[in-house]
Amino acid sequence: MHVRLLISMIALTVIPVIFLQAFYTGYMINHIRANRIDLVRNYGALIGKEMLQTDYLEGQASAVIDGEIQQFSGLYDGRIVVTDADFTVRMDTYGMLMGKKLVSEEVVLALQDTELSYYDRDSDQVWLTYVIKDETEETIRGMILFFVSCADLTESHDIILRTMTLVMISVGLLLIVLSFVMARIFTKPFKHMATSINRISEGYFDEEVCLTGFSEVEQISDAFNTMLKRLKELESSRQEFVSNVSHELKTPLTSMKVLADSLNMQPDAPVELYREFMQDIGEEIDRENTIINDLLSLVKMDKTEADLNIANISINDLLESILKRLKPIAAKKNIELVLESYRTVTAECDEVKLTLALSNLVENAIKYNIAGGWVKVTLDSDHKYFYVTVADSGIGIPEEYQEKIFERFYRVDKARSRETGGTGLGLAITKNIVQMHNGAIKVVSKEDEGTTFSLRIPLTYIKQ
Ligand code: ADP
Repeated sequence: MHVRLLISMIALTVIPVIFLQAFYTGYMINHIRANRIDLVRNYGALIGKEMLQTDYLEGQASAVIDGEIQQFSGLYDGRIVVTDADFTVRMDTYGMLMGKKLVSEEVVLALQDTELSYYDRDSDQVWLTYVIKDETEETIRGMILFFVSCADLTESHDIILRTMTLVMISVGLLLIVLSFVMARIFTKPFKHMATSINRISEGYFDEEVCLTGFSEVEQISDAFNTMLKRLKELESSRQEFVSNVSHELKTPLTSMKVLADSLNMQPDAPVELYREFMQDIGEEIDRENTIINDLLSLVKMDKTEADLNIANISINDLLESILKRLKPIAAKKNIELVLESYRTVTAECDEVKLTLALSNLVENAIKYNIAGGWVKVTLDSDHKYFYVTVADSGIGIPEEYQEKIFERFYRVDKARSRETGGTGLGLAITKNIVQMHNGAIKVVSKEDEGTTFSLRIPLTYIKQ
């Protein structure tokens, strides 16, 4: 980035300077040459007038005019040739053509009223023709052929060019140095950031990226720190999850080990004891199985939503079948299970997953209920969502734990949950499923009075 920035800055500064110089010097030299042609032509008009006044072109000698012409040609290190309308040379500052006929292309053209001007690069001269006409501007009386040196102009132009080149080179160098410094200043925060990120990648998670200078850079560093914080949270929740999983899976194993050891230590243990302990071991195996199954469902939920099998299903039917299945379990505790549907609801959902989510809620409402209590499930909808509530008259959840119950393996009362076969994963699974359907879940509960879970799920599934 540093090099690219430097190259672009140099290109942006030096190229315009070079262009400016090339254009300016080209323009300058053409301009001053055009000026010289104008000057010579003006002089032609002046001296031509004098010639007409003194019959110079008819052969009337004039020392004054000759002197003036000599002086002018001397001034510009040139040659001036004057002819009359019959091509006869009346004046030649070199004296070579005096009185002779000069029939060259430019003279013929001039006497046909076509003036020419030309710059000859080799000799560094401009030459031009001036047509002398009488006052009526109709009759051509002669012409003047000028050869004027531009050496003095070229010389001063060269001096200007050299000075300009020197100035431009200095400006260019200054700009390069300035570009270099600027590029360093601009890229410094990024280098700093790369160093910080590298340190974090090396494992120094507690360090933060702290960049100041430009607000954009500060924004990047803030965004990076937020991402880092989130990663730290994810990492710690991952570690917690792994340790929870290990602990949960170990507990039944430990129980089984204790049971098996105590049998092994009694060689003459009665068959009844064997039977009893083997039954306990069987229960622990079931528990281990439940935990593993729950974990597997949770891991599946963590995968992408592509796993969702969305179909238009009747929520009324779905709730009815859940309640029908759980009724015998509720009956065992003498718990009344009621469903109140305010309207017929069909929605785009994954039937299997939604059944699992709602079953978890109803099972909990039975599990954490009092004998002779009630569980009430309601279903309602509007034009956008359907709403399910699962209310119970159970033991309730103390306020401080209400946020945590959706976390994996979190159980308010571990002993009771274990007694009822809970793994602490049910609500985590439910919440995951609800979120997969772009819905929301919340809990309202009061200790010893009861708990209500409320679900809100869109009727139409929108892929996120
Ligand atoms: P578990 O398998 O232990 O039931 P869940 O994730 O389903 O795990 O629930 C987490 C914890 O939330 C439970 O251990 C229980 O303490 C509490 N809980 C869930 N539902 C209810 C409810 N209806 N009434 C009281 N407590 C509940």
